[in-house]
Amino acid sequence: MTVLAIDAGTTGVTAIVLDTDGRVAARGYREFPQLFPRSGWVEHDPEQIWDAVRAASAEALAAGHRPSCVGITNQRETVALWDRQTLAAPRPAIVWQDRRSADLCERLRAAGHEPAITARTGLRLDPYFSATKLAWLAAEEPQTWAGVRAGRTAVGTVDSYLAARLTGGRVHVTDPSNASRTLLYDLATGDWAEDLCELFDVPRAALPEIVASNAVIGRTDPDAFLGLDLPVAALVGDQQSALFGQACFTPGSSKCTYGTGSFVLANAGTTAPAPEAGLITTVGWRLDGQPTTYALEGSIFVTGAAVQWLRDGLGVIPAAAEIEPLAASVPDSGGVVFVPALTGLGAPDWDPYARGAVFGLTRGSTRAHVARATLDAIAFQVRDVTDAMARCTGRPLTSLTVDGGAAVNNLLCQLQADQLGLPVRRPTVTDTTALGAAYLAGLATGVWADLGEITDRWHLDREFAPAATGVGDDRDATHVRWRRAVTAVREWAA
Ligand code: ADP
Repeated sequence: MTVLAIDAGTTGVTAIVLDTDGRVAARGYREFPQLFPRSGWVEHDPEQIWDAVRAASAEALAAGHRPSCVGITNQRETVALWDRQTLAAPRPAIVWQDRRSADLCERLRAAGHEPAITARTGLRLDPYFSATKLAWLAAEEPQTWAGVRAGRTAVGTVDSYLAARLTGGRVHVTDPSNASRTLLYDLATGDWAEDLCELFDVPRAALPEIVASNAVIGRTDPDAFLGLDLPVAALVGDQQSALFGQACFTPGSSKCTYGTGSFVLANAGTTAPAPEAGLITTVGWRLDGQPTTYALEGSIFVTGAAVQWLRDGLGVIPAAAEIEPLAASVPDSGGVVFVPALTGLGAPDWDPYARGAVFGLTRGSTRAHVARATLDAIAFQVRDVTDAMARCTGRPLTSLTVDGGAAVNNLLCQLQADQLGLPVRRPTVTDTTALGAAYLAGLATGVWADLGEITDRWHLDREFAPAATGVGDDRDATHVRWRRAVTAVREWAA
């Protein structure tokens, strides 16, 4: 028996076929275009996401696997609009990285709304979150929004869009892990908050119904999806899916996923903790018939995306994987510090106006130093978040479990261990995001009986030990220099 999991990420879609032992039996991948219509704006064409879902799934199933169910995990916060009848999108999706709603957030903050919003949702007034993007659409594109008000056009995150596409438009649903990223979900009631819908000008009726993360929401429409008739048995946001896939089921267990951005999440148990120190509170998942599991999260916006920028923007590497040998060709960054605030800063600084900068260049600086500084920046940003988590929970981390597309980079894992002064643990399967959705779907349909069976399927690939001698001082000195650079980019943009 196998399970198909679709991970509709920010830069591309991964599909995996997982066998009952938790091994990846087959895999497919399709990148899709990133649209940058203006400075600070990022969009995706939903149709291209859907095409990538079908192509990646077809590739994963090419060897003849016949999965018994499918689970979906997805880039979060990104908002899509689609016609309820034709499923066509009237405009591109606005991506989580998009900063166009920064001024709108500023106005709501000035009007004193943020404390109440944070208390209700666990989030902040930041352009990152869905409702700010929807409020922008309501104000700036009244014609499109008229369709939403009239009930013709559905609004949702990428999970809802794909649930609609997969089922041939039969359902309009989301799960609490995705809903809790919108600024419209009340953590205390576990439902949409009417007053927040009003504040952000989002008609409640346009929003999806909220179902359990491992609910069977319907069956795939064979005409729409590769001739397959399968139960769609999980919806879950990508970072929460990775937390699940890493078997972080006990409060305090945590993981870091290195993808386009990097996201550190810690299981917070069944009571929502107050968001402090620049962290946010989110739903981890809600299993059918069980209380909601919450998580504390530090969301870093640009990490793997900085590697992409070296590849596509600067052209200093031909492929993302080339950053490792290039960065390893020098002993350190030679004093170069790169703050990749290319779409503002997320946790713990939260500054939508910050922009990137490279400090400390000399005549001796080379592209290798910039590459090394890029990996350093990923490690520094993750340390900023784990420091915040220790402050927030009063419990320092004892190790960091990592996954995601950039976790294959051994130098990055080593730099991370050195910067944290902690062991960094990488599992055999680093497609952990897809893994979580596969396990949730399998739990819903009886492929696996319980969480214990999932924990048994977690295997260590490699543990990176922090460098032993004298590095502590060095680690803190380089981190202090990094923090000075972060302060400088924020002052420059202010
Ligand atoms: P997402 O799900 O956010 O689309 P993935 O988990 O697929 O992201 O990871 C892709 C990201 O990882 C890209 O931003 C890419 O630049 C980065 N990446 C891929 N391989 C490496 C590598 N060897 N070293 C560093 N970064 C990498």
